[in-house]
Amino acid sequence: MKGYAMLRIGETGWIEKERPACGPNDAIIKPLAISPCTSDVHTVWEGALGERHNMILGHEGCGVVDEVGSNVKDFKVGDRIMVAAITPDWDSIAAQAGYPMHSGGMLGGWKFSNFKDGVFGEYFHVNDADGNLAFLPDNISPAEACMLSDMVPTGFHGVELADVQFGDVVLVIGIGPVGLMSVAAANLRGASRIIGVGTRPNCIEVAKKYGATDIISYKEGDIADQALELTNGEGVDKVIVAGGGVETFETAVRAVKPGGTIGNVNYLGDGDFVTVPRVEWGVGMGHKTITGGLMPGGRNRLQKLGSLVSSGRLDVSLMLTHKFDGFDHIEEALFLMKDKPRDLIKPVVTL
Ligand code: NAD
Ligand code: ZN
Repeated sequence: MKGYAMLRIGETGWIEKERPACGPNDAIIKPLAISPCTSDVHTVWEGALGERHNMILGHEGCGVVDEVGSNVKDFKVGDRIMVAAITPDWDSIAAQAGYPMHSGGMLGGWKFSNFKDGVFGEYFHVNDADGNLAFLPDNISPAEACMLSDMVPTGFHGVELADVQFGDVVLVIGIGPVGLMSVAAANLRGASRIIGVGTRPNCIEVAKKYGATDIISYKEGDIADQALELTNGEGVDKVIVAGGGVETFETAVRAVKPGGTIGNVNYLGDGDFVTVPRVEWGVGMGHKTITGGLMPGGRNRLQKLGSLVSSGRLDVSLMLTHKFDGFDHIEEALFLMKDKPRDLIKPVVTL
């Protein structure tokens, strides 16, 4: 089969590979749509996972079941399915402990385009099919379903990590697609005020549609200073970090109130340390919680988040700015993600 792969750090191209083998608990999927991600860019051009050779890229997609293993109970050939970017081993101790994303070691639930080939192939493999696949509702298009693989669950997980409550004032640092989904999730959770941090006009417009009440530009001054000014010097209740570099934690700690929580879903691609400002962290006694996590995957979550889309409570189509049709466009879509033209939010390729 054909696939679009990372050949080595800094280089991508089309390759031929064997169709993946299907184990007893697994499924083989023929993709209906795929979407490149900022994480693919980190993987290839920043070497964030270390060296990988001829590894098919991609972890956002949906498709049709092409083969199932003998133990798979609920899915059959021909079913249209969604699948998350993170595909845990649901019988693991980590999953039983409530951290499925870390089954098989820290971040071990991230298998696609990390430990195995991803979804940018003519076929892709899904482990633990009954636990990791979900039926694709008829009223969700394949392009929209791709947003349920990663952007929706990650942005929503940021809001879970930050523990957003009714009436909270929430700061979302970074309003790329992940941050936009954090804005939407904070809105659904009942935040009273949502301050988005971003500069691209397209993202700002969409952030407002998802519920952002205020916008701050990180290019026009310090984020924390601006957030403090907007809140009469009090600070915000919760911060979700969905963009920027390691330095955003200094900002986040300064911007959040005592008792507040910072939820990070940003991929920290460089730097050896995250710096926490001592005084603003209450000299160690400020009750300012800092947490960060890889999104959980799994069928239950996919079904629940999918129900928000199929019921019309969440419109993911606002993020689909660049649409392509046909397998050959995968390369173009990935390079778009790399080069990030100002009007881009998410590219998607239907197959
Ligand atoms: P993106 O690059 O499209 O968006 C990031 C946004 O942050 C951009 O709009 C950028 O302009 C903005 N930004 C840059 N510097 C900033 C600064 N100093 N302050 C504030 N904003 C700044 O990426 P995305 O697809 O939205 O993903 C966001 C992050 O989440 C990426 O690092 C991605 O790798 C990561 N991610 C994490 C998970 C997870 O499970 N935790 C899953 C998917 C993606
Ligand atoms: Zn992704």
